[in-house]
Amino acid sequence: MDDGQGKRAVFLDRDGTVNVEVHYLSQPEQLELLPTVSETIARLNALGIEVVVVTNQAGVARGYFPEHRLHAIHDRLQQLLADEGARVTGIYYCPHHPSAGLGRYKTVCECRKPLPGMLQQAAREHDIDCSRSLMIGDRDSDLQAGAAAGCTTALVRTGYGQETSATLKLDQVRGLGVFTTVEDAVKAWLALDQNKVLPSDSSLAEE
Ligand SMILES: [Mg+2]
Ligand SMILES: [Zn+2]
Repeated sequence: MDDGQGKRAVFLDRDGTVNVEVHYLSQPEQLELLPTVSETIARLNALGIEVVVVTNQAGVARGYFPEHRLHAIHDRLQQLLADEGARVTGIYYCPHHPSAGLGRYKTVCECRKPLPGMLQQAAREHDIDCSRSLMIGDRDSDLQAGAAAGCTTALVRTGYGQETSATLKLDQVRGLGVFTTVEDAVKAWLALDQNKVLPSDSSLAEE
């Protein structure tokens, strides 16, 4: 199936990876981008690599804030990125919880990480080849979702990442490594790819 024609993408968890973790962020004003994130996304934009945010938002299921609030939060996120010349192709969220939900939000869904549903949906909608893509997050469930979708994965130490790194088994989640920032993770992933460039192409890579 993977004939190399699909697009490459970097999937990003939201809270603790793109923006500062504040425990059930519920207002657009609480959004604060982590250092290097916007520059890194702008660089990926320039390289023609899709950037997609995939986020569990069980605060909706738990009744902490309404689902429409997420749209306001994500509009603000896009605006903060646009202010820095960066853009994400899509922001996918899971508003469900299997046991602690209200009404229709209390359900065993296929989108809640560690399941790969959001990544697979984004891949279908944007012609992304997950086997050539990277998933970055601060929790085990982010990396598990990425690995289940067939992506390479990377942990960042921001958010809950430091705690996660203590017990993480990188080899079980197609893990590239543990990185201080999204920028470091993306650099390592891009370098991995450059190492596959044939020697005869090295002059092209110099410029
Ligand atoms: Mg997170
Ligand atoms: Zn869901």
